[in-house]
Amino acid sequence: MTLQLILRQLEKTLGKEYRHAMRDEDIIAAAQEVAQHIVYTIHTPVKAGHDRFARSLYTGISHETCHHILNLLANDADSPHDYNFTAFAMRVNRTINSVSRLHRDVTRKQFPDVADKIKAITNGVHHLSWISEARAELFDNTEELAGWRDDPGVFAHMELRDEQSFRKQLQQAWYQDNQVLIEYINKMLSDHRTQMDTTWIDPPNYLSHRLPEESRLLPGVFTVGFARRFSTYKRADLIFDDIPALADILVKNNWRINFLFAGKAHPQDEPGKSVLKLILDNQEELHTRSNGLAQLIFIPGYDMRIAKMMVSGVHTWLNSPKRPLEASGTSGMKAAMNGVPNLSVMDGWWVEGYHEGATGWKFGYDGPLNAESLSEHPDTLLYAEDSQSFYRLLPKVLEQFYERHDEYMQLAVNNLRLNVPIFNTHRMAAEYVRKYDLELPAKTAARIKNFQQLYRSESSDA
Ligand SMILES: *Cc1c(COP(=O)(O)O)cnc(C)c1O
Repeated sequence: MTLQLILRQLEKTLGKEYRHAMRDEDIIAAAQEVAQHIVYTIHTPVKAGHDRFARSLYTGISHETCHHILNLLANDADSPHDYNFTAFAMRVNRTINSVSRLHRDVTRKQFPDVADKIKAITNGVHHLSWISEARAELFDNTEELAGWRDDPGVFAHMELRDEQSFRKQLQQAWYQDNQVLIEYINKMLSDHRTQMDTTWIDPPNYLSHRLPEESRLLPGVFTVGFARRFSTYKRADLIFDDIPALADILVKNNWRINFLFAGKAHPQDEPGKSVLKLILDNQEELHTRSNGLAQLIFIPGYDMRIAKMMVSGVHTWLNSPKRPLEASGTSGMKAAMNGVPNLSVMDGWWVEGYHEGATGWKFGYDGPLNAESLSEHPDTLLYAEDSQSFYRLLPKVLEQFYERHDEYMQLAVNNLRLNVPIFNTHRMAAEYVRKYDLELPAKTAARIKNFQQLYRSESSDA
C-alpha cells in the first residue's frame, strides 16, 4: 500500500509520464509526503516475523519503477539481495507503534535510528468474542455490570453488593466451561481410539492407546492451557524440560493435573514443528512417572473455536516464551477476559497485566535486557533456568487451587476488575485515536471518548 501511495504521489507531482521523469529526490519527496498519512504498527521482535523477499522475485512481477523505489527505501544492509518490507515500513511513516510497553523498549533497541519515533499502545482483544456464553450470561444478570457489552470499562468499577454470591456463580460458569472442554477432549480421544481400532491410523495422543476407562479426563481437575503458534521462541515444551521434577511435585502431593496444548506451526518452520513433536513424545513418560496423575493432551486443528473453548475452560493459561521475544501475546488476554489467571513469563502484555498475588503468577528470568536477550539461538533460550523457576512456582499454584479455592476465585474476580477494562480492543482503538489524532465522525468520536480514560500504555500509572 505504501508503494502504491508513493506511485500516486509521484503521478500527482510529476504528471502522467512520471515513470520517465522521476529522480531519487522525487521519490524521497513523495515518500515524505505519503509518510504523513501512515501510522505503522510493528508486531514482533522475532526475525521470521519480518517479510524479506529476494529482489530477483520482483523482476518477473513488477515494473522497473517499483524496483527503483524499493531499491531506495526497502534496502537492508544485512541482506543486500532482498527487499525488507519491515525496513520499508519503518522508514515511511509518521510514527511507529509497538504492541506493549516492553515491546516498545525492545523495538527501540532493535531500530536505534528511529528510536525516538517508537511509541507503545498495548494490544487488546475483542471482549464480546472471547467471553464464554456461560460467563456472559452471569454478567448479563449482574446489575452492577449493566452495559458491559458496550463498555468493558464497567468492570473497573464493579462494586458488588454480594461478592460472595457473584464468586459462587462465576465458579459455576467456570465449571460449566471446563466440562464442555473436557467432554470435547474425551470425545476426541474416543473417536481417535475407534479410528485406530478400525483403520490402524495412529492417534496423536498417547491416552487413546490406553484402556477406554483410563483414557478419560475428569472435569474439575486442575487444567493448564497452552495454545498459540508453535514457534521456537515460545518454548511450548519448556515445562517438560525436567519431567522427573515435574512428576515428583504431583506424586508427593497426590495432585491431578491436565496439560492441554494446541497450535500449528508455519508450514516452513521445521524447528517449530519439532517442538510440537517433542510435546507428543513426552506424553507417555509424564503419564507413567506421575502414576497417571498428569495427562498431557494435544488438540489438533487449532482455530478460534477451539481457542475460545480453551481460554474459558482451563484453570490457568500458560505462557512460557523467552523474554522479551513475545511482543504482546493475545491469547493470555482472552483467558483474562474470562477471569482465568495467567501463569506467565514477564513478557509482552503480562508485564502490564500482572499484579502480584492478585491476577496470576510470574516465573522465569525477568532481569534487565542484555545482549543475549534478543538472540533466538537455541543455546540462549534459558530452558534450564526458566523451567526450574516454573517447578518452584507450580506447587504454590496447585495448593491454592486445591486447598484455598476461595482465594483462587478471588484471582478470577481481580482479573475481571483489573484486566478486562484494559486489554480489550475498545480501549486499544481509543488510544490510537487519541495518541495519533485520528479523525473520526463526531458520533464515533463521542462514543470512543469514554474508553480513552481507561489506560495509558506508555506510563505505569493507569
Ligand atoms: C489468539 C489467537 C492466536 C494468537 O495467540 P498469541 O498468544 O498472541 O500467540 C493465534 N491463533 C488463534 C486461533 C487465536 O485465537
